[in-house]
Amino acid sequence: ETRADILRETEMLLRSPICCILGHVDAGKTKLLDCIRCSNIQEGEAGGITQQIGATYFPIENIKARTMVLKADATIKVPGLLVIDTPGHEAFANLRSRGSSLCDVAVLVVDIMHGLEPQTLESLNLLRSRNVDFIVALNKVDRLYGWKKCPNAPIFNALKQQPDFVKTEFNTRVSQIITQFMEQGINTALYYKNKSLSDTFSIVPTSAISGEGLPDLLLLLVQRAHKTMQERLTYTDQVQCTVLEVKVIEGLGTTIDVVLVNGILHEGDQIVVCGLQGPIVTNIRALLTPHPMKELRVKGSYQHHKEIKAAQGVKISAQGLEHTIAGTALCVVRNSDDIEALKEAIMHDMNDIKDRINKT
Ligand code: GDP
Repeated sequence: ETRADILRETEMLLRSPICCILGHVDAGKTKLLDCIRCSNIQEGEAGGITQQIGATYFPIENIKARTMVLKADATIKVPGLLVIDTPGHEAFANLRSRGSSLCDVAVLVVDIMHGLEPQTLESLNLLRSRNVDFIVALNKVDRLYGWKKCPNAPIFNALKQQPDFVKTEFNTRVSQIITQFMEQGINTALYYKNKSLSDTFSIVPTSAISGEGLPDLLLLLVQRAHKTMQERLTYTDQVQCTVLEVKVIEGLGTTIDVVLVNGILHEGDQIVVCGLQGPIVTNIRALLTPHPMKELRVKGSYQHHKEIKAAQGVKISAQGLEHTIAGTALCVVRNSDDIEALKEAIMHDMNDIKDRINKT
């Protein structure tokens, strides 16, 4: 095997990066998520987006189709992108796998008309404390006075279409916001001017209403995740999995919604999760995802799987999950000798959470 072959093989084994969206209230997190989700590509033509438990999965064909205008698809090497559906920094704070964030890359949404706001700073601190790479979406560019809409255009093209006074206001606001970031000790630059990806965070101007800058944002997300996180994104058999929510479902009893960050889960696997009264050891009764064509919130219709590979959002039904704590890790018992060690590892998360609650 040549080195190129080996490289090609490892690339095939990359898992999908997981992305979270953070920012101040009303900056446009929800709208941006909607805009990313509602593809302007015909259904079926470019590989459908699948709505998952707590997340939306974008197969790479979809991302390639939507970023084609940027003529850069040769640089996309991950199988897809998993975007966590719950925006906001509270959700992010609870999304951890083994102490670190399960998020590989984040979008920090800033309203171009408002600049950095209190929750932008909170989000920024969270990202820094967890050492998570992020991209700034400088949202609501369409609110600049006189903005000419260019639906779903790359931002550079959209800017070229603007009258001079709009360009001037845009540049003024961008420089002010770059200065505000600098005051927080963070270097940022418009992504197409960013020459130093290792120490400067990229800014992508966007509109979640008319879609300008969305191709750029998607491309940057997958490129950035791939470049900076090759090691983290390498697929392994080691299961890495976090509990998002604990829910009672009619006919299924108590279930847990999890994000499988890495590895593979099988029906029947023995698992350990963190419970209020201590570790819970149980067996996976069913691995469930919503039916592809159905709205996630439609009740009672799930697809069963014999196994599921990362990264995915999955619902797990099993006995004894009633007191599972959301935001903690799930482990799989591969060898019955490991149970005690796994129970201990799992309860570390619990102690972490207690520490955090005591501090606040
Ligand atoms: P969140 O609190 O960060 O999730 O913000 P939302 O997504 O709920 O957006 C807050 C408000 O701003 C809503 O009324 C949105 O319609 C509006 N909004 C969000 N993004 C944009 C944008 O890019 N342009 C404009 N004009 N309005 C936006």
